[in-house]
Amino acid sequence: MAKARRILILGGTGQARELADLIAGLPGLTPVTSLAGRTAKPILPQGEIRSGGFGGVAGLAAYLRENGVALVADATHPFAATMSAHAAEACAQEAVPYLRLERPGWERQDEDNWREAHDIAAAAAMIEAGARALVTVGRQEIAPFLARSDISVFARMIEPLQDPAPGHAEIILARPPFSLEEELALMREKEISVLVAKNSGGAGYAKLIAARMLFLPVVLVARPQKPQAPLAASAEEMRDLILASLPRLPA
Ligand code: NAP
Repeated sequence: MAKARRILILGGTGQARELADLIAGLPGLTPVTSLAGRTAKPILPQGEIRSGGFGGVAGLAAYLRENGVALVADATHPFAATMSAHAAEACAQEAVPYLRLERPGWERQDEDNWREAHDIAAAAAMIEAGARALVTVGRQEIAPFLARSDISVFARMIEPLQDPAPGHAEIILARPPFSLEEELALMREKEISVLVAKNSGGAGYAKLIAARMLFLPVVLVARPQKPQAPLAASAEEMRDLILASLPRLPA
């Protein structure tokens, strides 16, 4: 019997988990999910798991070679731009197919009051003095908001900060997904006056609906550029793209 082919899934998202579960159900393929290792107790998918950085492009290229990876399915978060750039380059070096799962970004509706920021620093600079900002950009990128002592920051994140938060900031530890009711309750309880979010697409849309319902302005951080690649918009589409992209097994 032919050896199972290893599909390296670059993970850290719900869609990566869905994809690993789908691949685990296919004969002849083994999903190996790679996590950055930043979350203490991640929810794990089926198949093999590895954790921690590869050590840049060279480290990932060596990993692909040494582990006989047949294909890389990049299902990282739309804002994980470094990992995607490294993966595209390492795959090109090792002649391994590189595909990306990229969920569509959120689209503004007529009633939305959104302003787009091209990056996190620009988003932090766009908040008016005296605002009560619900900031949902994650722990790694919270620093420019904590540096704004002229605003009240309600920073939602999964893992706690290493250092104590400054007096004008409250850390809200919570793990997504959040329902519309939860988002509305939080915004009302904290008397939020502006929402800051990344245009991640996918399940986090409830907070944008809540902001629309409460007539709150939103500062939405635009997605970073990622490398050119064959794209799929959902885990199911990615499974089909993987099957179509794998070189045929010898008969
Ligand atoms: P990033 O800035 O693109 O990557 C920084 C470095 O972290 C990479 O160079 C790589 O280290 C390591 N890394 C990132 N993702 C990895 C993975 N899946 N497996 C192994 N190593 C990984 O990434 P990030 O934005 O910090 O995101 C880290 C993880 O959190 C990703 O898995 C991403 O899907 C998830 N996530 C990110 C966000 C976000 O807003 N950025 C939101 C939700 C989830 P080496 O160079 O040493 O290989």
